[in-house]
Order: sequence, then C-alpha cells, then structure tokens
Amino acid sequence: MSRNDTLFARAQNVIPGGVNSPVRAFRAVGGTPRFVARAQGPYFWDADDKRHTDYIGSWGPMILGHGHPQVVEAVTKAALEGFSFGAPTEREIELAEEILKLVPSIEQVRLTSSGTEAGMSAIRLARGFTGRNKLIKFEGCYHGHADALLVKAGSGLATFGFPTSAGVPADVAKDTIVLEYNNIAQLEEAFALHGKELACVMVEPIAGNMNFVRASVPFMTRMRELCTQHGALLAFDEVMTGFRVALGGAQSIYARLIPGFKPDMTVMGKVIGGGMPLAAFGSTREVMAQLAPLGPVYQAGTLSGNPVATACGLATLKLIQQPGFYEQLAVRTRQLVDGLQREARAAGIDFTVDSEGGMFGFFFADHLPQHYQAVLATNKERFNRFFHGMLDAGHYFAPALYEAGFVSAAHTAEVIDGTIEASRGVFARLD
Ligand SMILES: *Cc1c(COP(=O)(O)O)cnc(C)c1O
Repeated sequence: MSRNDTLFARAQNVIPGGVNSPVRAFRAVGGTPRFVARAQGPYFWDADDKRHTDYIGSWGPMILGHGHPQVVEAVTKAALEGFSFGAPTEREIELAEEILKLVPSIEQVRLTSSGTEAGMSAIRLARGFTGRNKLIKFEGCYHGHADALLVKAGSGLATFGFPTSAGVPADVAKDTIVLEYNNIAQLEEAFALHGKELACVMVEPIAGNMNFVRASVPFMTRMRELCTQHGALLAFDEVMTGFRVALGGAQSIYARLIPGFKPDMTVMGKVIGGGMPLAAFGSTREVMAQLAPLGPVYQAGTLSGNPVATACGLATLKLIQQPGFYEQLAVRTRQLVDGLQREARAAGIDFTVDSEGGMFGFFFADHLPQHYQAVLATNKERFNRFFHGMLDAGHYFAPALYEAGFVSAAHTAEVIDGTIEASRGVFARLD
C-alpha cells in the first residue's frame, strides 16, 4: 500500500471524505488523492515522494510557482513581527492601494479571508445599496458556498431557483435567478420579468468552474447595458481570473473589447493572497460607503487583512508587475495547450483548448462549449483516462473535467515540453 493510500484511509476516519474541500477527494475521476508533502517551483512531491508537475497551483494562487524566494522572505519577516493583531496595520493600506492601482474600476476595497466570504459580502452590499433582493447568476459559475449562491435553475424564468445543497432554505434560494451562460435572450427575458427587483448580476467573466468558458462579447455588452438600464449592479467574480488572465483581471480584457466597459463590483481571491488565505471585494466609493462602520451593511472578520497573508499577497502582486510577466506566462500556457492539442490530433482524438494569460482549459469535444450543459456533454470517460494517465506519468491536472488549469512563471519551456511529451503516449492509449 502506498503512503498516499494509508494517509487517505487515516484521513477518512477523522475528516468527512478525508478532505477539507470536496474536489480534492478525486470523486469525479476515482482513485486515491495525492497527499502533498512539499512543493518547489512548478513541482510538488506527494507522500510517496513522487514528483508531479503541478497544473493546479492551489487552484490558481501560485502564479509565481511554489516557494518563490522573495515571497518566502516577505512571509518569514511578517511572521516574525506577529501573526495577527485584530487591529489595523500599514500593509493592509499598501495592499488596498496596490489593488486600486491595478484594477481601476475599484475605488475602495475590503479584505476578507476567503473568496466565499468576499462573494457573500458583495451580495449583501449590493442588496443593501439597491434595497432589492433578487440576483442573477449563471449555471456553471461558482461564487463560493454562501446559501444564496448554491442554487440551480427552476423550471422556467418566472419560477424560483432551487437549492443545490441540503441545508439551504428554499426561502433563501427563491431570490436567486439562475440563467444559462452566454444566453442573451434568457438574460433579456429575466430583466423584463424581474428588472425592478434585481440587486445584482454576479458572473465569472471567464468561467473557471466549468472548465474554461468565456463570456462572449455580445453577452457581456448586453449584460452591462441591462444592469445600467435597470439599476442593478454588475458584480464580476474575479476570484479566479483576477491577476491570473491579465494584470488588470478579465475586466481589463473586456474593457479593451467593449468601449467604456467596467463592472460595478469586483470580487477577488486566490492570486491576491499568493497562497495565503486572503480575498477582497471592491466597488465605487458610493457603494462601499454602505459598509460598516460607515453604513448599515454589516461585514467583519477577526483575521481579515491578516498581516502574514497581506505580506504574501503584496510580495506576489509586486512580482507579477515586472515588465513582460503576463506576455511570458501567456506564451507558456499557449505552448502547453497547443502542444496537447497537437498530440491529441496526431492520435485522432477530438480535443479543443483555450487559454488566457496563465489560465487554461481543454475539452474532449470537437468544439469549445459555450455553457454548462455543453461542458457536461463532453467526453468524461476520455477525460478521466487522460487524467489518470498523466497522473501516473507525474503531471497533475485538475481531478475533474469541470475545472480550469493553471501555469505558473516557474513552468519553463522545458517543463511544459516534458508534459506534452508525456501526453503523446497517454492520448495514444485513450480508447
Ligand atoms: C475559488 C472561487 C471562489 C471561492 O473562493 P474560496 O476562497 O474557495 O472561498 C469564488 N469564486 C470563484 C470564481 C472561484 O474560483
């Protein structure tokens, strides 16, 4: 028995399913999760001391690779100064200033410890600001596990959403309207029916929780117009895409494609903490003024703006601003997905890819899906065999076809070539 197997058995005894976040349990692909012992650069080593090239990077945060010396130094220095005070620190201001500089739609920002908290707080703030209750989200987008967001579509647009999790009251779910991603007609219909009651539309601009699906430019343009017309806030969930697809996040990409475009609210996480628990939500001064202690919308956190986490986030944000950082990251990521596509074609396998900055997706399908149901229709058996083949060869992709992948600045051309090389044999043995 491998040490990973032993640890998994032991973990299942004391932790539900053996994991502290469900996707880690490998339920979608089967088999034993790899317990990570340590990591460096583009690699981690599992409990059996086997090396894996890491294409998850903690689901996005490790954009510099693991153990970047300057980040380690900043974290070590901060830890020596104290772990947590429950009182303000200068680094929180520095981090907020850095975020405002990089994401111009944000005029003020509040720090939290997780993306879930930030998303949940953004929705409370949107409701408090507008005095309305309803919100729109899209099937396949994930915004954390707050009650109002664990909702699936009802049978029609006039009907209420239903909870996707036990323990979520139907009363909470009924104010969430769930629509198909990239479906303009549905969005228009929902606004026609509920426009006056809508507090916000929350969207992953490039969805990374149904593999990798971009919002089309016409869809995003119409979403912006409808929100403005009806006085609903457009909330971008950039927990995954922020500082990942571009320095200014996905909103900087849509701003280039749609004149004058910007969201009203932004939720961030993952890269912002460089691997430490840190997230944020921001908006205009007018909206943020509704937040306690200035306004009536309550929101708080004992460890919010934690001094060690802010040190880690600040060091990370400084390093990703080096000239050419994102150009290089995008080239490496493209090298990976183009290489995988080439090998799949050579093996006669239907396979499509997409990437932006350091985030990528691939599908066992002949064209890129535009929404969640289309993602579900891709070839799951092939995905699972590919996943396990690559895992055996020491290349760690997300253990479910519903997840995006991530390349870091530590993934050199040689490292990526090694992965493409390994994929050749795996694609050849897929069927
Ligand atoms: C990861 C993620 C979240 C939740 O963040 P946590 O830190 O896991 O709570 C929210 N939205 C998106 C788009 C995410 O990818």
